[in-house]
Amino acid sequence: MSFITKLGWFFRKRWLLYVLIVFLMSSTSYLNSVAPRLVGNAIDKMKAGLLTQALLMETVGLLIGIAIVMYLFIYAWNNLLFGSAALLDKQLRDRLFGHWTRMTPSFFQRNRSGELMALASNDIQAVSNTAGFGVVTLVNTVVITSVVMVSMILFVSFKLMIAALLPLPLLALAINRLGKSLRNRFILAQESFGQMNDHVLESISVMRVIRSYVQEEKDMEAFERVTGEVMEKNIRVAYVNALFQPAISIIVGISFAIGIGYGSFLVFNNEITLGQLVTFNIYLGLLIWPMIAFGEFINILQRGNASVNRIQDNLNQRQEVSDADKPMELVHPGLIEFKGLTFRYPEANTDSLTDLTLTIRRGETLGIVGRTGSGKSTLLKQLLRQYPLPERSLLIDGAPLERIAIHHVRSWVGYVPQEHLLQSRTIRENISLGKPNATDSELAAVLELAFLKHDVEQMEQGLETIVGENGVALSGGQKQRVGIARALLIDPDILILDDALSAVDARTEHAILEQIRRTREGRTTLIATHRLTAVAHAQQIIVLDNGHITESGTHDQLMELGGWYCLQYNRQKLEQALLTDGKEEL
Ligand code: ATP
Ligand code: MG
Repeated sequence: MSFITKLGWFFRKRWLLYVLIVFLMSSTSYLNSVAPRLVGNAIDKMKAGLLTQALLMETVGLLIGIAIVMYLFIYAWNNLLFGSAALLDKQLRDRLFGHWTRMTPSFFQRNRSGELMALASNDIQAVSNTAGFGVVTLVNTVVITSVVMVSMILFVSFKLMIAALLPLPLLALAINRLGKSLRNRFILAQESFGQMNDHVLESISVMRVIRSYVQEEKDMEAFERVTGEVMEKNIRVAYVNALFQPAISIIVGISFAIGIGYGSFLVFNNEITLGQLVTFNIYLGLLIWPMIAFGEFINILQRGNASVNRIQDNLNQRQEVSDADKPMELVHPGLIEFKGLTFRYPEANTDSLTDLTLTIRRGETLGIVGRTGSGKSTLLKQLLRQYPLPERSLLIDGAPLERIAIHHVRSWVGYVPQEHLLQSRTIRENISLGKPNATDSELAAVLELAFLKHDVEQMEQGLETIVGENGVALSGGQKQRVGIARALLIDPDILILDDALSAVDARTEHAILEQIRRTREGRTTLIATHRLTAVAHAQQIIVLDNGHITESGTHDQLMELGGWYCLQYNRQKLEQALLTDGKEEL
């Protein structure tokens, strides 16, 4: 039952269709039960010497007529039912995918990609199987069994029916036992399937690294362990599954033995005719399929139930960040204020930012520097609204960020993340992600700004070059500049560059930042970097250490302060000088 309630949103809209399907299926089963009676009647007439040619023709004609009508009905309900199951399959998949697109990073930290893929493939298949074959087997079982039982009583003998069906309760018991164990084992099998998916995905994405460390064999061994586990779990499912058929066969066999034995006895006693005994045995034969179908139904239902629960659990995971009740509309942000912001990642046990206070005026450039792991990226991510924020700790034009409509917040920001994220499409598509209808001249402008024009011109297919999965066909610096061009194309109110030029040489970085500064007059830019010269021009620079701001001011002020910034700046300058000297000597 929980299967239907969990998918209520689907079945509620289509109940009429299902009523029609059940009606067609029941009619088919009913027609199916008429045929044995016609045959039985004909035999009795034959025995009594009353069978005329006309009567025989009529019987044959009826049998053919029934076959044709059944054919049409079966055709109709098959189409309707499996069409509907395919629709459920699609809608469920769309739902899951839609759900995932709304999720924030913590969700993907909790649910690994392989497990999500298992949900979208195997589990959805198990559910749509239940909605298709499950319905067939259930309706067939219920309808055929009841029609056949009623026919047995009406046209043959109540006593014989009871005797022959005596073993059935045993079947129910066996199925109940086996069903439970099947569901549990199936859940385990699906879980290990998810883990296997995950292993494949991860290995493929880091194959180059695995190979360069000559770890193929190790990885292969690990994979074999995972596939071994999947196999073992599936065998355990198959083991229980295999018990269904023999159990059913035995019980059906006993029924037949009773039917023939006791039936013959009744014929001898003249309680039923020979024709009735033949009819009865055809009826019993008709029950074999529903019995098997019932076993199959339990099997399919348990799998469907297990999968629908897994899917529902996933859909129930809410996003951590959602719009306030009456979100404020704020089209263009001005002043950004951090007010004693302390932030901890949902899965972490220490704070990544502590008591951070900072004001950024519109049009300013803020430089964020500090040791690796000091919280630079974390600080920048606060403006993306991906994680829940402590109340009133981040204000935009005086309004708490959590009160502002999320779609506004996200539309302000052009974000170039530290780790490049490219789709395996063309350069054009990657750059125009945030503005799909960008004109060629707009694209040309951002290519120039990101110093990418020359690179693209070198490529045979120019902007139409396919970058491969996550940009494997591009160099590190090219990937970063595609990311920058993408952010610049939407001309954002706030541009966030998170170590976005680390793979570009210092001179090019300087030139790109120079251009960006010129074109972004009056709009805010936040730059996190390890190369201090990249932010020397900023109106404000902060140094982070362990989530705290330890120094802040302009370049000159920080140099005068003589702290970490000054030390690091001089060191980098020296290194740069040595590097250039070295080059000149060569
Ligand atoms: P880098 O210069 O290497 O980019 P960073 O200054 O950007 O470093 P952050 O990425 O902000 O550093 O990380 C700050 C701290 O937060 C680190 O200690 C890191 O381990 C932790 N951290 C980062 N991301 C997460 C996450 N998703 N979940 C839990 N902890 C995280
Ligand atoms: Mg970082």
